[in-house]
Amino acid sequence: MEQCSHPEHHDLHHIENDEQFAGLTVNAGVKQPPSVNPYLTRRPKRRQPTVNELVEGILKGDTMMLSRAVTLVESLVPEHQAKAQEVIAHCLPHSGRSRRIGITGVPGAGKSTSIDVFGLHVLKEGGKLAVLAIDPSSERTKGSILGDKTRMERLAVHPKAFIRPSPSAGSLGGVARKTRETIVLCEAAGYDNIFVETVGVGQSETAVHSMVDFFLLIQLAGTGDELQGIKRGIMEMADGIVINKADGDNIDRARLAQAQFRSALHLFPATASGWKPEVLTYSGYYELGIAEVWEMIDRYFAHVKENGYFDQKRSEQARYWMYETINEQLRSHFYRNPEIERLLQIKEGAVLGNRESSFTAARDVLDIYFANTFPPQGTAKG
Ligand code: GDP
Repeated sequence: MEQCSHPEHHDLHHIENDEQFAGLTVNAGVKQPPSVNPYLTRRPKRRQPTVNELVEGILKGDTMMLSRAVTLVESLVPEHQAKAQEVIAHCLPHSGRSRRIGITGVPGAGKSTSIDVFGLHVLKEGGKLAVLAIDPSSERTKGSILGDKTRMERLAVHPKAFIRPSPSAGSLGGVARKTRETIVLCEAAGYDNIFVETVGVGQSETAVHSMVDFFLLIQLAGTGDELQGIKRGIMEMADGIVINKADGDNIDRARLAQAQFRSALHLFPATASGWKPEVLTYSGYYELGIAEVWEMIDRYFAHVKENGYFDQKRSEQARYWMYETINEQLRSHFYRNPEIERLLQIKEGAVLGNRESSFTAARDVLDIYFANTFPPQGTAKG
């Protein structure tokens, strides 16, 4: 039976309940609830999942657990880092079975528009897609370049897509290592396509190149010399160059740029993979030529899996990341030491004031660091 919720009816005797009104009953109401929800304050604090819970969740494809593990990977708190490393170690045997694709291009080249479209294209074939990013500048820009999920509108709401903005803190090496570790977690969670996006303006391409199987460079048909301003190094890394915005009045210019890129690529030495980078035109916005871009990527994977380059490159990358991680951890261990920090300030003043040479200053600081980190053997008394 329904209860009347009107406060004034609560606990009152209603005339309608008299026998003369047979067949009609008015129920007592309920008290007006307090304006502050008392249950809110009593909610228990969110418990941190254990390593086992995280690993089990990830292996089941639970995106909440995946996100929480990635947050640990990105955290600067040493305990979080230690936990993250344990989770990664358990996930490692379940990783590696994805296609890792790096996507770069200058701001405005159409990366987010294209990733949205490429992503949906890939997901049509089944499987899951993770979109990660490396943007070392995101701390300054508050992650606006690669952090805004709404940039990939359709992927952002797709149940099979996992989008994670760039880790924001730290050096390029640190940011890149975190993304590399996140790839492992995503693969263990069953993501069989991984896109790693970066802004094509600096060093970050090298970092992305060192963690992906295929590197896609998005270009625009500009005015004048198409190859101007494109770092030769970036072009050399590309396994495919795609010229976006080949639509409307821009089609002819895009085709011209395509011809120019093709002839420029002829001048480059043969690649270690034996693959000849291709140049295609497409329109991310109007979704023209998308399947062709994807067919090229499929051809590449077939080629490198057949000739063994795929595995060779992954082993080289694994070695590269071991040394990168050592370098990065050594640096941060050194620079985060408060004693070293204090000493560096003093020595910097001495060098700037010409009281000491750069080399003796560096040697003194390193000597103190090494003496404290690795005390000489056999000097302990007793
Ligand atoms: P990003 O900075 O590289 O991520 O580039 P965006 O994806 O944000 O695109 C930059 C601008 O170019 C936006 O205004 C897009 O609408 C536009 N754009 C992207 N792809 C195309 C395309 O294929 N054709 C045209 N005409 N415009 C496009």
